[in-house]
Amino acid sequence: MGRLICFHPTNIALCLLATLWCVMAGSVRAAEPAIAFTPREKAYIEQLGSTPIKMCVDPDWVPFERINQDGKHEGIAADLVQLVAQRVGLAIALYPAKDWDESLAASKGKRCQIMSFLNQTPAREAWLIFTDTIFFDPNVIITREEHDYVADASGLKGARVALPRGTMVEERVRKDFPNLEVVLTASEPESMVMVSERKADLTIRSLIVAANAIKKEGLFNLKIAGQIPQYTNQLRIGVLKGEPVLRDILDKGVKTISAQEREAIANKHVSINVTQGIDYRLVWKIVGAAALVIVLGLLWNRKLSALNRELERVSVTDKLTGLFNRMKIDEALESEIQRSLRFRQVFSIILIDVDHFKQVNDTHGHQVGDQVLVQVAQLLKTNTRETDVVGRWGGEEFMVISTHTEQAGARKLAEHLRQILQDHTFPVVQQKTASFGVTTYQTGDKPHDMVVRADTALYAAKKAGRNRVEVG
Ligand code: GH3
Ligand code: MG
Ligand code: MG
Repeated sequence: MGRLICFHPTNIALCLLATLWCVMAGSVRAAEPAIAFTPREKAYIEQLGSTPIKMCVDPDWVPFERINQDGKHEGIAADLVQLVAQRVGLAIALYPAKDWDESLAASKGKRCQIMSFLNQTPAREAWLIFTDTIFFDPNVIITREEHDYVADASGLKGARVALPRGTMVEERVRKDFPNLEVVLTASEPESMVMVSERKADLTIRSLIVAANAIKKEGLFNLKIAGQIPQYTNQLRIGVLKGEPVLRDILDKGVKTISAQEREAIANKHVSINVTQGIDYRLVWKIVGAAALVIVLGLLWNRKLSALNRELERVSVTDKLTGLFNRMKIDEALESEIQRSLRFRQVFSIILIDVDHFKQVNDTHGHQVGDQVLVQVAQLLKTNTRETDVVGRWGGEEFMVISTHTEQAGARKLAEHLRQILQDHTFPVVQQKTASFGVTTYQTGDKPHDMVVRADTALYAAKKAGRNRVEVG
């Protein structure tokens, strides 16, 4: 098979696919020239000598792997595993099986020591241990052309999904999508044919295999309708549980494979010699599919970062009042102290405690109490500067960290806030006041020192009759 020529217009689709692999393979570290084996690993390799390791494969999983007419293992997996074997100095012999089921049975029956290329799943962990990932490949949803884009497979009620028996996707679809009716097939091509012939509504399979099969089998009424990001194939070498040393040896070999080597091997098996009679429908279909997968990947990333931003926001926010929570105030106080140390600036804190708040709950109920707290929070927030940090210290207590503010300024601000609260008319309770303890940063202060002074001042304000500001 020829190399992929990316500047040739008809190869754009394949280049997009190749780009995708490059992106996915990018996380893999570069080749390490010499492998450092432990004495146990060295002894294992020496003891084997030229005795080959028996390997079970999927005999019908083009272009990843297959057993050809001459009984030879070929495809992406075959090349990758050979490269690993060569690096670690082991010989490999193919266990001939007529289908994947037979390979699985042979592996379980310990008639082969390794399985060439498979995802790690809980079911397989029952008898196998795995190397690091040797190849990444996303799984896509394939439907007939008349179907809409599938954003979420859990929204498809009662749809029939054709899946080859014993695969990772079968195992996970049964668990993750109980809304789908699974129709088992003997092989991956059969699953696609069933969808094409309307015997099933969809199938889920690797992008690489799908692109290859649509082309090869002329299933032009099929399209790639969506992606299941969490189902990206992370293909590894599986080793019998009783052979941990062999697994460690192979793992060291897997880690030497560079992203470029992976990419070159993938290109070799999926690139097509474009001669004549180019099917532009296919080309555009593949371009569309590759673009879709890239776009979905980007959207997924954006969604993830939006979720992460939301998570961060929630983690610093007090649920009831929407102000910063105690954790965030502690953090802000610490960083304000650091800043004061570095730039010789001062700042002040104001600790605020609502007066006789327990009475609100006792007289009007907890819900009215909550509403009062929300309103107090709003009043504090709207009557301080953008640069001030306003948070809920706990219960009916609040704290304002007033940046660049000396004692006199902080006292003024506290007095202003006290007045605002006193003048405000709350819906049920009408009038409510608060007491304020103010303190200003002194060189060498720890957060705790400032809080103790503010608290003492607050206590003094309470003792002196409440609805007052005291400075400590
Ligand atoms: P003082 O003037 O001495 O501060 O009197 P107080 O009643 O405000 O003080 P105390 O600390 O005895 O009572 C605080 C009350 O605040 C007790 C608690 O039930 C109530 N509280 C704390 N958190 C919440 C909340 O989230 N919602 C409501 N409704 N009440 C709360
Ligand atoms: Mg209190
Ligand atoms: Mg109180």
